[in-house]
Amino acid sequence: MGRYIGPKCSQCRYIGEKLMLKGERCNSSKCALERKSNAPRGARPKVRRRVSDRGLQLKEKQRVRFSYGVLEAQFRRFFAEAERMPGMTGDNMMSLLERRLDNVAYRLGFGESRQHARQIVRHRHIRVNGRRVDVPSYLVKVGDEISWREQSTKTELYKVAAAHVQSRNVPMWLSFNEDHMRATVVSLPTSEDVDSRLSGKAVVEYYSR
Ligand code: SF4
Repeated sequence: MGRYIGPKCSQCRYIGEKLMLKGERCNSSKCALERKSNAPRGARPKVRRRVSDRGLQLKEKQRVRFSYGVLEAQFRRFFAEAERMPGMTGDNMMSLLERRLDNVAYRLGFGESRQHARQIVRHRHIRVNGRRVDVPSYLVKVGDEISWREQSTKTELYKVAAAHVQSRNVPMWLSFNEDHMRATVVSLPTSEDVDSRLSGKAVVEYYSR
């Protein structure tokens, strides 16, 4: 499955706010948005242009897509699946995105960003129900157990993740065992479990035109 390999910081620049796509770097002075606030000397003042409704909808949709690090084609497939499911399409969409294995690994603090968590999954460090799963878009379901591969618990990667165990903010739909660095999916994520800046409704509005 493809992934975006362009500069992450330009996605934040496009949206105009920090999307926290690079982990620790995002909280440092190295963040491109922080540096950009010191406009270069002699820079021409920005000309404010009126953004159309369509432009605003696109931006909101892109905010969601960039945040989860999903390419447009796959994002549209998720949307098509969300439409087929019973209930509100926007909520279904966000629930599907939250259930991605790379997002789950990120929520559990295994990686410092979704991109980092995705790499951990791709490098086969994660198991689901004891079986190796290296597909970041794998959708977890109720009852699934997510754990580290036994050999991976000896890696620096694991040690760093385990060291930050206290600072983790694990969502309610995941039950996390800190001692074994293992989680179980106890329910499916709802709109309450999603970053409040991200709107499934905006995604529906964009694709419904
Ligand atoms: Fe966005 Fe992080 Fe880059 Fe800052 S450092 S612009 S928050 S990806």
